[in-house]
Amino acid sequence: MRIASFTHDGRARWGLIEGDQMLDVTAVEADLPPTLMGALWRGLDDVAAIAQSAPRLPLDAVRLRAPIARPGKILAIGKNYHAHNKEMGSEAPASQLWFNKQTTAVAGPYDPLPYPKGATQLDYEGELVAVIGRTARHVAREDALSYVAGLCVGCDFSERVWQSKSATFILGKGQDGFAPFGPWLTTPDEAGPIEEMTVRTWVNGEIRQQDSCASMIHSLADQIAEVSSCMTLEPGDVIFTGTPAGVAAGMKPQAWLKPGDLVRIEITGLGALEIRIAA
Ligand code: MG
Repeated sequence: MRIASFTHDGRARWGLIEGDQMLDVTAVEADLPPTLMGALWRGLDDVAAIAQSAPRLPLDAVRLRAPIARPGKILAIGKNYHAHNKEMGSEAPASQLWFNKQTTAVAGPYDPLPYPKGATQLDYEGELVAVIGRTARHVAREDALSYVAGLCVGCDFSERVWQSKSATFILGKGQDGFAPFGPWLTTPDEAGPIEEMTVRTWVNGEIRQQDSCASMIHSLADQIAEVSSCMTLEPGDVIFTGTPAGVAAGMKPQAWLKPGDLVRIEITGLGALEIRIAA
C-alpha cells in the first residue's frame, strides 16, 4: 500500500494511493481515526478493504503533507555511509551515532523551506526514512523490519555552523522545516528490499548524491534493534537512516544552498521530495 496524508478542500485527511487516484478513507462511514498517526495506533490491517468504498480524488487535486504531522519522536543516525564520512573528513564512529530532529521541524514533501535567518551554511542530506507502525522495545534485528509501517524519502536539512556548535548537532539539525519527509508511506511489502534502493539528490537539476542504501554501515534493522534496546518506539515515530556522500559541505568549493535553489530527492520505488529554498 501507499498511504498518504493530504489536504483537500481545506481539510486534513489521509488515504491510500492507487495509480493517479487518492482513496479518501476518512470519508468512509467507518470507525477510522482522522489522522494517519491515529490509524497507525489502531492498525492498518483492514484499511485496504475499507478503502474500496472510499471516494476517489485525482491525485493532482490534493495537497500531500508529511505523512505524520507531529511524530512522537524523530531520531536520526549520523555518519552512516563510509563515503560521506570520508568527504566530511571523519571516521565511522565506534557505535551508532544518534541525534534528534525536533517535531516542529516536520514539513511536507513539496513545502518550501524559508531560508533560515542567520544561516550561512545550509546543506541537504537525502535519506531513506522509516515510520514505525507498532510499539517496539528490545526488538531483535531479525524481527526489526516488521515494526516498520512504511518507508519514504526525507531530507535531513542541516546548518553546518550551528551543527558544529555542540556535539549533539541539534541546533543545526532541528530547525523549523528541517525534517521534510514523504511524499507518502510505502509499506515494506510493496517497497521491496531496502538494499536494492538508491538515494538520489539533485540541486537545480544537477545530481549531487547517488548511492545504494546497501552502503549503509548500520542497516535499518540494526538501527531499530539498537534504539529499541534503549527506549520504546511507538507508532508514528520517525527514523532518518543517514545520508550518502555528495552533500554541499563535502564539495570543493562548498556549494551551500541559497534562496531560490530547488532540492529534489528521490528513492527507488518511494517517490520524490521537491523543496524550494524560499527567500
Ligand atoms: Mg543525516
